[in-house]
Amino acid sequence: MSSLYFQIISFFYVLLIIIVYFSKKRYVSTENKIFSMVIISNFVGLILDIVSTYLAIIDFNLIILIIVCKLYLVYLIVWIFLMTSYIFTISYANDSVDNKVKKIFKIIFLLSIISSTLILLLPLYSNRSNGMIYTYGPSAVASYIISGLCVLTWIIVMVLNYKNLKSKKYLPMFVYMTFGMAITALQASKPDILVITAMESFITFLMYFTIENPDMKLINELNIAKSQAEKANNAKSDFLSNMSHEIRTPLNAIVGFSQALLEENLTNQAHDEVKDIIMASESLLEIVNGILDISKIEAGKLEIINKEYQFKKIWHDLIALTKARLGEKPLDFKIQYDESIPEVVYGDSTRVKQIILNILTNSVKYTKEGYIDFRVSSVKKDGVCRLIVSVEDSGIGIKKDKIDKLFTKFQRLDEERNTTIEGTGLGLAITKRLLELMDGQITVQSKYGEGSKFTVMIDQKIVDNPTIMIEDNKEIINNITFEGKKILIVDDNKINLKVAARLLQSYKLEIDQCLSGDECLEKINNGNKYDLILLDDMMPKMSGVKTLKKLKEMEGFNIPTIAFTANAIAGMKEKYLNDGFDDYLSKPIQKNEVSEVFKKFLDK
Ligand code: ADP
Repeated sequence: MSSLYFQIISFFYVLLIIIVYFSKKRYVSTENKIFSMVIISNFVGLILDIVSTYLAIIDFNLIILIIVCKLYLVYLIVWIFLMTSYIFTISYANDSVDNKVKKIFKIIFLLSIISSTLILLLPLYSNRSNGMIYTYGPSAVASYIISGLCVLTWIIVMVLNYKNLKSKKYLPMFVYMTFGMAITALQASKPDILVITAMESFITFLMYFTIENPDMKLINELNIAKSQAEKANNAKSDFLSNMSHEIRTPLNAIVGFSQALLEENLTNQAHDEVKDIIMASESLLEIVNGILDISKIEAGKLEIINKEYQFKKIWHDLIALTKARLGEKPLDFKIQYDESIPEVVYGDSTRVKQIILNILTNSVKYTKEGYIDFRVSSVKKDGVCRLIVSVEDSGIGIKKDKIDKLFTKFQRLDEERNTTIEGTGLGLAITKRLLELMDGQITVQSKYGEGSKFTVMIDQKIVDNPTIMIEDNKEIINNITFEGKKILIVDDNKINLKVAARLLQSYKLEIDQCLSGDECLEKINNGNKYDLILLDDMMPKMSGVKTLKKLKEMEGFNIPTIAFTANAIAGMKEKYLNDGFDDYLSKPIQKNEVSEVFKKFLDK
């Protein structure tokens, strides 16, 4: 009975593997399917091995014994052919099984059927001694030769694919093969210890814990799926960023020419219509920016860019923007500013402004009459200033059960009531995520039909010794002119050039234009003198950034160069300043921004 110990132990651990392997959630692949067959065949082989040895011990009927022994030999052949298919799969089938591999499978299957039939038909003799049975004869010889040929095939396939050694699957297979050959040699020299099936079980067992571990495979697959999803998401962000650029260019023309038209002597009706065109274009622009922002946040690409800034400046901008949005609505716009807020703080001013503007815009949108109360207060502690911004309105309010849906993207509430109010349902989703990125908070109190109060808390560091220039909040003078100054506008789009030239007319500058980086370099090389260059970035052949680099390489070049681009994602200004530009203007042209930049560089 001692000769059965190996098989009995193997029987239990293969049984264990079968239970664990088949009860686990597995990723389905050709390799896995073959491995499942390997385990099952191994289990059947062990049973045949145990039965044949037991029948030999109890001296059972010889014919039945020979049949069991033949079936065992067939098992050996099936196991070895399954392993052959396995090796072909890990060698040639990467993600999917193509026709070539399918053909190989068919051949292997056919060969295993022929070999099994051969083994069953050929004679097998047996010799019993000491309760053991030794089989010999053509059937046994055939099984050895076929096994030998299969092992030779493995070696050839693995050597031919040697470079795949790094693929982590070959290395264990080489180890198992060496181990298998050693055991076979041991079996040949000591026929009384039956270790072949136990060795095969051990290999199955090792494979389960290494290359065929279902958990590892599932994790691998998840990782692949994750990276594919990330790739798709990145492609989406790129697409959106390109689209936003494409949409901005024609919008630039629409807004630009409309603004230029406003300066003409129009009839009242035409004047109102042009204003409507500008308003519609601006909301379209807002939508494009919103989609771009949310996709950037979701792709984890939105960075918070902290720098010193004057909060009061933002406060004034926000008031001006809200007043412009209020238009003729009969709303009392109340404001209250806490003068103890430090002059200069450290944080992402663009995002802080965007957050507050979102809730202010909403209060204007969702309030028909009454008031909007905009307040800022602060709490200071340990060098940090907590800005507490609240916007209260007497608007339509929000139902209690809808409040938790407020921050879900594309979610608009009370659609029936709000059909006439424009919106995408992105504003608050972006606001919330931006606040999360800045460790801020937002709270909402609202009574349906009576009004809402949004409160935002953002911590900004206090800057005691600012490095930025503190500006007074003076109003932008609208009618400034720069007679005698000459600027160059570089843009590959003719319409953009036309719009820019038309809009900048009121500054009474001399304007020169060109359509590419090369032309710009040529103009400077030819000794043309300018007081300022507006340089588009996204141009074919040579981008604005590249052009600027080349300009800076020219001796004595010191013309202020402004990035002038439709690439208006937040954070772009910082990027362009880093690239060496002196300032940044986004398209569509905002005259107050242009005035500010021109004043800075031309008013000397
Ligand atoms: P949008 O305004 O573009 O629809 P938001 O994400 O900014 O998207 O707001 C989501 C929804 O929250 C709005 O559709 C509106 O129903 C509701 N809401 C936001 N602010 C207010 C407010 N101040 N008063 C009433 N409802 C509001």
